[in-house]
Amino acid sequence: MSNIAVELTKNPKPKPADESKIGFGNTFTDHMFVMNYDEGQGWHDPRIVPYGPLSLDPSAMCLHYGQEVFEGLKAYRTADDHIQLFRPQENFKRLNVSNARLSIPLIDEELCLEGLKKLVEIEKDWVPHIPDTSLYIRPFIITTDAHLGVHPGHHYLFIIILSPSGPYYAEGLNPVKIYVEKNYVRTVKGGMGMAKTGGNYAASLNAQAEAEKQNYSQVLWLDGVERKYIEEVGAMNIFFVIDGEAVTPELTSGSILSGITRKSVLDLIRSWGMKATERRISIDEIVEAHKNGKLGEVFGTGTAAVISPVGHLKYGDLEMEIGGNKIGPISQRLYDELTGIQWGRRPDPFGWTVKID
Ligand SMILES: *Cc1c(COP(=O)(O)O)cnc(C)c1O
Repeated sequence: MSNIAVELTKNPKPKPADESKIGFGNTFTDHMFVMNYDEGQGWHDPRIVPYGPLSLDPSAMCLHYGQEVFEGLKAYRTADDHIQLFRPQENFKRLNVSNARLSIPLIDEELCLEGLKKLVEIEKDWVPHIPDTSLYIRPFIITTDAHLGVHPGHHYLFIIILSPSGPYYAEGLNPVKIYVEKNYVRTVKGGMGMAKTGGNYAASLNAQAEAEKQNYSQVLWLDGVERKYIEEVGAMNIFFVIDGEAVTPELTSGSILSGITRKSVLDLIRSWGMKATERRISIDEIVEAHKNGKLGEVFGTGTAAVISPVGHLKYGDLEMEIGGNKIGPISQRLYDELTGIQWGRRPDPFGWTVKID
């Protein structure tokens, strides 16, 4: 077994007084998990230390060339007051996929999971109590070499920080409006689309800001080569229910992030005896299905929102209303089932949850 050193803070912070007002990503807990990588030594010194600022050289390479990867998952407080994670092994597996793409040395997935569990256990009083709240978990890696040459770093920091998170749907599960992005692309085949890395998000900010200005919540990305095939939404994968069959873009192009919610949704739908297919989907097919009344539901999937029903989808001048701008039965069933498993209200037949205490 590994040796994870623990240094507890002498100045614990007060927990949020009103859990209904926590929001997202605003407050951080008392401790963080840290581990260093130095060439020749590998990853070393896994430890839990008081949360606080990092000391970085201004020339640290991560600040200039974006050699950075991250993950996102949550810890949930169950009704019987236990703390659990949802498929955390998948996050560390995916972190290594991102690492491989960005020339970052691979992590020991088991050690990182052990570090995470220990950290969450220490911080368990920070997991909020009221319904639909959680403790958001952000693992990330940056290169710290003080050097301006462009090459993979020789020194890295792996860090996990935790942030209490309010209910995503403060006003209940509501359909969102999105539009198909025609000017910008998020990534291209051969790019970093399959990696969870800051650069992909930097590339998406203009489009996101423009969408919000027009009163849409997100954009739907098309492939960067033909501008024809559907990829995904901001930080969500996308599903369509066409003629009673669930379809989602296949991952073979390498430009789509392999969501853990996406994977879980595919498993759930199939376990219901319904068909769920991964394949190429053109925007023209969606427009056609809508015209013929066969487009039953559209929804995004991701850790933050779990399921996000799409009520309006705009493509150029064509504004499509989907399912009467109401939550479809499959979206609702998926949301209830997934959140039921995550907050321990329903049985977990797939063994997806990992108990902390
Ligand atoms: C994180 C992320 C998702 C969703 O992945 P989950 O594992 O389901 O949270 C989808 N698309 C992008 C671009 C992402 O960064």
